[in-house]
Amino acid sequence: MATEKKKILVVGGGIAGMTAALEAAEVGREVILCERRPYLGGRVAQLYRYFPKLCPPACGLEINYKRIKANPRLQVLTLTEVVSVSGSEGAFKVTLRSSPRYVNEKCTCCGKCAEACALEVPDLFNYGMSTVKAAHLPHANAFPARYVLEPELVAKRELAEKVKAACEPGAIDLEESGKSFELEVGAIVWATGWDPYDPTGVQYYGFGKHPDVITNVMMERLAALDGPTGGKILRRSDGAAPQHVVFVQCAGSRDEHHLAHCSGVCCLASLKQATYVREQLPESKVTICYIDIRTPDRLEDFYLKVQQDPAVAFVKSKIADISAKGDKLLLHGEDTLAGKRVQLEADLVVLATGIVPCRPDESLKVDENGFLTRDQVAGYGVAGCAVAPVEVSSTVQDGTAAALRAIQSLAR
Ligand SMILES: Cc1cc2nc3c(=O)[nH]c(=O)nc-3n(C[C@H](O)[C@H](O)[C@H](O)COP(=O)(O)OP(=O)(O)OC[C@H]3O[C@@H](n4cnc5c(N)ncnc54)[C@H](O)[C@@H]3O)c2cc1C
Repeated sequence: MATEKKKILVVGGGIAGMTAALEAAEVGREVILCERRPYLGGRVAQLYRYFPKLCPPACGLEINYKRIKANPRLQVLTLTEVVSVSGSEGAFKVTLRSSPRYVNEKCTCCGKCAEACALEVPDLFNYGMSTVKAAHLPHANAFPARYVLEPELVAKRELAEKVKAACEPGAIDLEESGKSFELEVGAIVWATGWDPYDPTGVQYYGFGKHPDVITNVMMERLAALDGPTGGKILRRSDGAAPQHVVFVQCAGSRDEHHLAHCSGVCCLASLKQATYVREQLPESKVTICYIDIRTPDRLEDFYLKVQQDPAVAFVKSKIADISAKGDKLLLHGEDTLAGKRVQLEADLVVLATGIVPCRPDESLKVDENGFLTRDQVAGYGVAGCAVAPVEVSSTVQDGTAAALRAIQSLAR
């Protein structure tokens, strides 16, 4: 292949992958961006606000979507994953598999299919805290803005036919099937991001047992205006507004039985979520239980700002146990600064669970914590939280660097 004809494949359509794909396409390279979910944006699309400025992520994402729409050299494949890769730098053969969306480009997002759909499924965008019609737009700002039918609906043929009949533009194709196909590309950027650690295994925190013990990613959705409560921070047990919210840092992290590494962003995420609580519930108080507060470089200013709120307390304690007492939650630990036992009574507990890197292909090299290393085979680049647990601005820089390395690889 001549250098200019060689394509770059970017795997993962989060902020790292979108950045890498856009930077390469905007300097004239042909790029294919593949994403396993039905929409781009990754985990950032599920955040309510960004630290440290507390602006909504939707603005930044929207700019990227506009750049993608405007660039004919960038092809987006959603619901698509890499199955296998062969070949070498400059001439990789990649087999991909796409799952059916059952809705084609004629979709106008009118919502008539959802109206006609009697089946509801757990809404994974809200981490299962609500349900959604089995014919739905993945979320309010989804890109591409196109509905998707869940396989459970398509399996119920009679109902699926009713949903199809409600679609005036004729965008629903119930016969669509998954397909495998091959691509030839010169370089690959792996930007497959992270999954939240499942704290069910940290039994002493009672996640899954007490409905008012939630995780940090769930808190983002609770605060979001398009979330399960319309943006109201409410207890899941009784719908009441919590008066005391306790954040438990390193919930499973820095613990060799769970996640040995520090996830880097959880302290900042809890500080940010403390501002959600305090802004929405001015009578409330917040306690952050931590091992160390880690807010590197310029992000330290954000920590100092939150510390100035007298209703936000910091307790240096690894919480050892959470149990229910009536409609309250009791937390036990040891204050290692004061050298005494801690007992806290909370209405809502937020577990700051860590980042688990996604490894999309067994052939990719990983470090002892499962993060992709930078010394992959020639022609492979890596970027974002699949490589290290970092915040969005570092992720964007990493995506840009990966684009440059992919372009250099094509020129070799
Ligand atoms: C609770 C919490 C709050 C946070 N708040 C902030 C904040 O306020 N400000 C900030 O700067 N950072 C914040 N972060 C960090 C931020 O979420 C990450 O920096 C960001 O998500 C990293 O983007 P990414 O593209 O590397 O990964 P992701 O967002 O995970 O995107 C990766 C994409 O790759 C896709 N993918 C995965 N595997 C495959 C595959 N095999 N094939 C195809 N596609 C695949 C995924 O579906 C996903 O769309 C927060 C993190 C947490 C845990």
